[in-house]
Amino acid sequence: MNTYKLLTPGPLTTTDTVKREMMVDRCTWDDDYKVVTQKIRRQLLELAHVSEDDYTAVLMQGSGTFGVESVLTSVVGDQDKVLICSNGAYGKRMTDICTHSRVPFVHYAQDYDKVPDAAHVAQLLAQDPSITHVAMVHSETTSGILNDIQSVGKVVRDAGKTFIVDAMSSFGGVDIPVADWGIDFLVSSANKCIQGVPGFSFILCRRDKLLASEGKARSLSLDLLDQWKGMEKDGKWRFTSPTHVVLAFSKALDELAQEGGIPARSRRYTENNRLLIEKMRAMGFATYIDGSHQGPIITTFFYPAGVSFRFEEFYRYIKERGYAIYPGKLTEMDTFRIGNIGEIYPEDIDKLTGIIAAFLKERKEQIA
Ligand SMILES: *Cc1c(COP(=O)(O)O)cnc(C)c1O
Repeated sequence: MNTYKLLTPGPLTTTDTVKREMMVDRCTWDDDYKVVTQKIRRQLLELAHVSEDDYTAVLMQGSGTFGVESVLTSVVGDQDKVLICSNGAYGKRMTDICTHSRVPFVHYAQDYDKVPDAAHVAQLLAQDPSITHVAMVHSETTSGILNDIQSVGKVVRDAGKTFIVDAMSSFGGVDIPVADWGIDFLVSSANKCIQGVPGFSFILCRRDKLLASEGKARSLSLDLLDQWKGMEKDGKWRFTSPTHVVLAFSKALDELAQEGGIPARSRRYTENNRLLIEKMRAMGFATYIDGSHQGPIITTFFYPAGVSFRFEEFYRYIKERGYAIYPGKLTEMDTFRIGNIGEIYPEDIDKLTGIIAAFLKERKEQIA
C-alpha cells in the first residue's frame, strides 16, 4: 500500500475505493461498460452547470495535454487564428502545440506572477479582426496563480469569438459556470480535482461550435468531432479506452457527489491551501504569487533564507515521513511547490508543516 501521500497537482492521492475499481477487467464493447462512459459524460455536464442541449462531453485517451492538443488542432482551422494568453508553462505549451501542427496563432505572454488582462485581450481582438479563437489556462499549475477566465470570457463573447479554456487543475475543485462565463471548450483530465487516476482527458464542448469544426482536424487519433461521433452513438470509444481508468473515474465522480459536490470540495481545498500558506509563512517561507491571485490548488514557495537548503534533501526528508512535494517550475528563481488537492485534509497540512519545521530546526542546529 501507499507509504506516502502525494502533494502534487495530479496524479494525486486517491481513495482506496477508487483504486479498488481497477481490480476488474472490462470488455470495451459490453453494454455494462459503455453505459459507464455515458454516465460520466452526463455527470461532467452537471458539474459544469450546462444543459445537454447546449453542451456535450467528449472523453479522449491520453494525459491532459492530449485533450488540449485535440481541441487546438481540431477546432482552429487553417483560415482561423487563435490568440493564446499565457502566464506559465502550460499556456506556453499551447503555443508549442500550435507550432507543431501549424495552427495559426498569436501569443500574448504575460509575466508568470500576473494574470492575463481582459482589457488587453479586448484591445488585441479589436486590433486584429482575423483572430477567431482565444485560449488560456485557468489554474496555471506552473505557479499556482488562478487566472480571471470570467473577465476574459466576457470580452471574448462580446467580440463574438470562441473561448478555449485549459481548466486542467481547477475543474472539480473550483466551481466554473461554463456557459455563464462564455466558455466554448473546456479541457480537464481524470487525475486532477475529480480525484481519478491518469489515463484520459475530457472536453466539454459547446455543441454548435463542435459541429462547426467538421473537416478541420489535423490528426486522426485526436480528432475531437470524430471522437464525439463515435461516443455519442452508444458510449463506445473509437479506439481502445483505458477501461480501468474509466471505472475508477466513475467512482471518483460518485465520491465527489457524496462529499457534497464541487462547493464542498472547493471548501476543503481552499482550507487546506489557507492553512498551508499560514503555517509556511509563520516559518518564514514567502510565496511567489501574491494573496489576491493565489489559487487554492498549488502554491509556489521560495527557498528559505538563512539555512543551507538543497531541494533534493528537503524532498527526501519529507518523503521519508509520509509526503511527496513538487519541485519548482520557474527557471530563473529557486522555488518549490506544494499541492493541496486529492485525498488531503487539514490534518495532512498540520503533519506536513510539522515535518518541515523539524527539518528547519535540524538544519539550523547543524549550522550553529
Ligand atoms: C496537468 C496540467 C496539464 C496537462 O498535463 P499532462 O501532463 O499532459 O497531464 C495541462 N495544463 C495544466 C494547467 C495542468 O495543470
